[in-house]
Amino acid sequence: MHLEKLQAFVLSNSDYGESDRIVSLFTLEHGRIRGFARGARNSRRRFGPALETFARIDLQLNHKEGLSSLRSADVITLYPGIRAALGAISHGLYACELLECLTPEGQPLPRLYRLLAAYLERLDSGQSGAADRRMFEINLLNILGYRPSLDGCSRCGSPFDERGALMQQGGELVCRFCAATGHQMTSTSLRNLSFCLATSRFGQAVFEEETLQLAGILLDESLATHSVRKFKSLEFLQQTCSAVES
Ligand SMILES: [Zn+2]
Repeated sequence: MHLEKLQAFVLSNSDYGESDRIVSLFTLEHGRIRGFARGARNSRRRFGPALETFARIDLQLNHKEGLSSLRSADVITLYPGIRAALGAISHGLYACELLECLTPEGQPLPRLYRLLAAYLERLDSGQSGAADRRMFEINLLNILGYRPSLDGCSRCGSPFDERGALMQQGGELVCRFCAATGHQMTSTSLRNLSFCLATSRFGQAVFEEETLQLAGILLDESLATHSVRKFKSLEFLQQTCSAVES
């Protein structure tokens, strides 16, 4: 059988039967795939801690459509800085779940791979702020082709003026001629999100509190629209965020 060497992040894992595990992986080479890890529950010698969620690993597997068979996995990093802080853990789990729910299976997305790597490194360095989360989300939507129309009305194409846009269901952004009602998105919040797409580094985008909230409303709505199910880790994320803020 043909053995491939891949680079990957572990998105999630679940027990299978008495001794095996099924892991969801986001690989540089094939995008999201599922792997079968025989004996991973019984013996930690073979895979060690390499199948923990958001671990970055090198692996060898027999690649097949549907379910690949894992031969070996070596840890590049387990991100100890993330695992030491509840806020960072919840953001890391959430980022992995977004990829799990929104990426197509078996399609290479190297830009998204690099985005996830940069975000996890940022979380690992002790930063787990809301601005970084929103930076990750808008870039994720952009790479997947789901980006809201930030510069002009998605219906008539006219550029947004200083009053900004009105958000419709699903995160659609329209002008005041095309809709009479909708959640008001200020031009500053739209500009900040555009800046998040233009900059390639976390920590460069700075949001005012109100702007950050508006961006959050738009991004939460857009992400939910493109997912087939609710994000399970979102509640945990909201709890850890409010615990930090209060
Ligand atoms: Zn319009």
